[in-house]
Amino acid sequence: MSEMPTMDTIVNLAKRRGFIFPGSEIYGGLANSWDYGPLGVELKNNIKRLWWKHFVHARLDMVGIDAALMMNPRVWEASGHVETFHDPLVECKSCHARFRADHVDTAKPCQNCGKKGTFTDPANFNLMFKTHLGPKQEDATTVYLRPETAQAMFVDFLNVAQTSRRRIPFGIAQVGKAFRNEIAPGNFIFRTREFEQMEIEYFIPPKGWEEHFETWLKAMHNWIKLCGIKTELIHEFEVPKDELAHYSKRTVDIQFDFPFGQEELYGLAYRTDFDLKRHAEFSGKDMTYTDPISNEKYIPHVVEPTFGVDRTLLALLVSAYTEEDAPTASGDSEKRIVMKFPPYLAPYQVAVLPLSKKPELEEVARKLALDLAQKWSVDYDVTQSIGRRYRRQDEIGTPWCVTVDFDSLNDNQATIRDRDTMKQERIAIQDIPQYIQEKL
Ligand code: ATP
Repeated sequence: MSEMPTMDTIVNLAKRRGFIFPGSEIYGGLANSWDYGPLGVELKNNIKRLWWKHFVHARLDMVGIDAALMMNPRVWEASGHVETFHDPLVECKSCHARFRADHVDTAKPCQNCGKKGTFTDPANFNLMFKTHLGPKQEDATTVYLRPETAQAMFVDFLNVAQTSRRRIPFGIAQVGKAFRNEIAPGNFIFRTREFEQMEIEYFIPPKGWEEHFETWLKAMHNWIKLCGIKTELIHEFEVPKDELAHYSKRTVDIQFDFPFGQEELYGLAYRTDFDLKRHAEFSGKDMTYTDPISNEKYIPHVVEPTFGVDRTLLALLVSAYTEEDAPTASGDSEKRIVMKFPPYLAPYQVAVLPLSKKPELEEVARKLALDLAQKWSVDYDVTQSIGRRYRRQDEIGTPWCVTVDFDSLNDNQATIRDRDTMKQERIAIQDIPQYIQEKL
């Protein structure tokens, strides 16, 4: 098995092959913004689609929403974001823990990670990006870009509960962008100011949260396996009581061994009835739920599993990266880089490679590629030697390459090559969709 790749290796591969580029690069970039390229957007969309399939469609107790990014500013007063994101802060550059500037002696080692001399200058910092609705730039028009997707699930709770006819326990899921004016962004797509989250707010009765918490923790580990993140690099971190967020009674961070250290990948929190109570208070709307069978009335409590899309993608790049010795045609061996993505997440499921640019070969190959493209994501590549084309497909993680050669014109067969074993099989062109379908 390969060693852990360095961040440079991952960042270079991501750029070289079109997964992720520096944002606004031709203008010299914009601090820590990244653009997902043709392969990155496929991988990212596949992650989001799988997540939605797994957590929303494949269950009967979940529904989704897609809420506006800008919400009534009172939402952020109710949630505590306006209040708690307002003090002068210093941030430890090493572990990114933030402290009220008046609560910490910056001459001393960080109380979180123990490193010394790593604090940023104090800044009166609100992590939320502000903007204005309409052309008048005055206080009355101030709105924020949402710093998390979670609040919309609370704000829309009554509408969703009524229209979806779900009984508690049930959950609301959302995937979307969030914005935080992070003091110290960095480590590629690990910490950026614009990122994407996949969040679930799972509404439960006031009693029995412990069981739901354990069930969700297991569900999060199952997801990690499903999306091909190396489970041996995963750790659970029980957030100590005195470090819990203001809304949380218990939080477990799921951490991953990134090349720059063990850091948060996901989080699971028991948020009690904090959120719905606060929104009831600030909006004046009654958030009481009446159980249709027992008639019991209560403010629902919430267990929240939260997943960063970009951190998932980074953990997947790190997990999938493999270096192997592979034999060359001349009998030597050379380094082969393979991204071992699960086939259903790979940017392309299949590449069609005509052996040469001869029109009669291209005609057959293009037809096959178009056929396959109706169902899967397909790359079509005709330039360079076949060996180089295989290496490129290995490096972008394409599970199957189909080569159309001159014999194909007579026997209607093509060679299908497996990314991981490099084994090649010759099969009838018409059987190729079936072959892929069975392996996916
Ligand atoms: P951290 O401690 O790393 O700042 P957090 O505890 O503030 O993270 P949450 O508020 O729990 O993070 O956000 C939920 C998830 O969103 C995180 O588990 C992470 O996957 C993702 N996330 C949070 N902040 C960022 C960011 N700046 N860039 C990319 N992903 C992020």
